[in-house]
Amino acid sequence: MNCVSFVAAIDGPAGAGKSTLARKVANLLRMRYLDTGALYRALAFSLYSSQVSPEEGPGMEAAIAGISVEILENGLLLNGKEVGKEIRSPLVDSIVSSYAALPSVRKRLLSIQREQGKHGSLVADGRDMGTVVFPDADVKIFLTASDEVRAKRRLLELRERGEDVTYEEVLQTIRERDRVDSERSTAPLRKAEGAIEVNTDALSIEEAVAALASIISKRKGA
Ligand code: C5P
Repeated sequence: MNCVSFVAAIDGPAGAGKSTLARKVANLLRMRYLDTGALYRALAFSLYSSQVSPEEGPGMEAAIAGISVEILENGLLLNGKEVGKEIRSPLVDSIVSSYAALPSVRKRLLSIQREQGKHGSLVADGRDMGTVVFPDADVKIFLTASDEVRAKRRLLELRERGEDVTYEEVLQTIRERDRVDSERSTAPLRKAEGAIEVNTDALSIEEAVAALASIISKRKGA
């Protein structure tokens, strides 16, 4: 990385709190934030809504080429329309990983993500930030928590949004997403070499933000 850009790459399994924490840390340290899960969710949502099944082939290539995804300062445009809540539903939770496993889907989103790392300081979160998208990131963090803690947090988040789901359903979806994300052959979920592991089981949001901010700012100041 050159001196005008600084990238903090945060990876980890589903529901480890990456998006919440990464956004807060970025705010605190006056860095930009990139939620790469939102990109995969938007693309999967669009493909699923157009009844394109998650399989490679000419149909997939054509469908992907016809979708436009644009990153805004505080959101995402999918085919020119802002998307938010609809890409974070239990339905999208259950379909996103099978689309994200496809090389053509990942290829489509790679340059969009890398472009974001070229302008100033960035905190990016996802599954392959430190391994594939930003292998030269200035700092790499692997955020974890137990399955049960992750499911409880995700359940609260979904219930707050009025979704009617049970703890068992959420736990099962989280485990299945982790399995597909870790077992895929292209850019699987892995702890990057040199990544600092942070387990948030026993940490409040404030404590976790402080831990991440301290790791990142130490590296920034180095
Ligand atoms: O981070 P979030 O839970 O919103 O990500 C949704 C899904 O998008 C993940 O379960 C994974 O399948 C996919 N994803 C990915 N690579 C990333 C970010 C997300 O494969 N960098």
